[in-house]
Amino acid sequence: MTSEEIKACAVELGFDVCGIAPAAAFAQLRFFREWLARGYAGEMQYLARSAERREDARSILPSARSVIALGTVYNVERPYSTERDADIARLARYAWGDDYHDVIGRRMDALLEWMRGAAGEPFDARAYVDTGPVQERVYAQHAGIGWIGKNTCLINPDRGSWIFLSEILCTLPLEPDAPSLDQCGTCTLCLDACPTGALAEPYVLDSRTCLSYLTIEVKGSIPIELRPQLGAHAYGCDICQDVCPWNHRPAQSRDEAWQPRAAFDGPSLGALWRRSDEAWRRALRGSAMTRAGVRRMRRNVAVCAGSTRDADALDALTSVSEPSCADPLVAEHVAWALEQRRD
Ligand code: SF4
Ligand code: SF4
Repeated sequence: MTSEEIKACAVELGFDVCGIAPAAAFAQLRFFREWLARGYAGEMQYLARSAERREDARSILPSARSVIALGTVYNVERPYSTERDADIARLARYAWGDDYHDVIGRRMDALLEWMRGAAGEPFDARAYVDTGPVQERVYAQHAGIGWIGKNTCLINPDRGSWIFLSEILCTLPLEPDAPSLDQCGTCTLCLDACPTGALAEPYVLDSRTCLSYLTIEVKGSIPIELRPQLGAHAYGCDICQDVCPWNHRPAQSRDEAWQPRAAFDGPSLGALWRRSDEAWRRALRGSAMTRAGVRRMRRNVAVCAGSTRDADALDALTSVSEPSCADPLVAEHVAWALEQRRD
């Protein structure tokens, strides 16, 4: 079984790009500990817990020889967040469709099954989609499927950066690809556009002020001093990818899995709040946003209403009350939002 045969099978199974990296301790992997030491991970303690394993894929699978890096384009034909009307809720593009952990997990299982049949010898493997203790962008860059941009996203020169990454660590000594070269050049558009200055320096994200972190990773109260900067970002943030020149003509996916669910296809902030708890649960089931749950989505929408001072959204906060609105976390953020009303 050759690397080329694995790549051909990956494409048949719905992956858009595939490359092979050696399972090595690349120098870039060492920066992770420094990033943690600077406090840039915020309250994502699971990252610190997995720091040692993240330094080398072989700490997860000691006999690993290769990392098969896979990329799946999720972009669909919809305006960028930077082009939307002010009252439209900003929901991260990756989260509009089905839960990628499930969809891509199934595809990786199918790829592994094919590999086990084609290899002609037993081998060990581990497959991860996003949540594993693997610095997947570093291995993806070394597998030649894109470079890590100054916005910290993996950019494929032909397809852009709207790509889900996943990887298979395996004990097979596969022919590796050449690493991708950085093509950001002198561009600084992402750093200039970030509304909170979360890109502390090129290639370095301070999660603590990133809107994606604040709306997705923070479990409790969103820090009051950062709430005014949320704008209409109800779940995640795409700005530093929207402005990237490599996303001006990005690849688009016709995959049913990534097409926007009606509930997430450009709703206004007011419409999101007026949605019943039951409708929220239905919309979130099996979606990439499922982990946020109704409570945290309401928390976020409330902050957006206060941050944007959108009249319709603020009106919705006072006129619609579902059981989740009585949750102390939600109620505290609603109270803050209503204080932001202009006199
Ligand atoms: S996702 Fe948004 S807040 Fe985070 S770094 Fe990018 S532009 Fe800044
Ligand atoms: S906006 Fe410019 S600097 Fe930022 S990732 Fe894209 S090409 Fe690189």
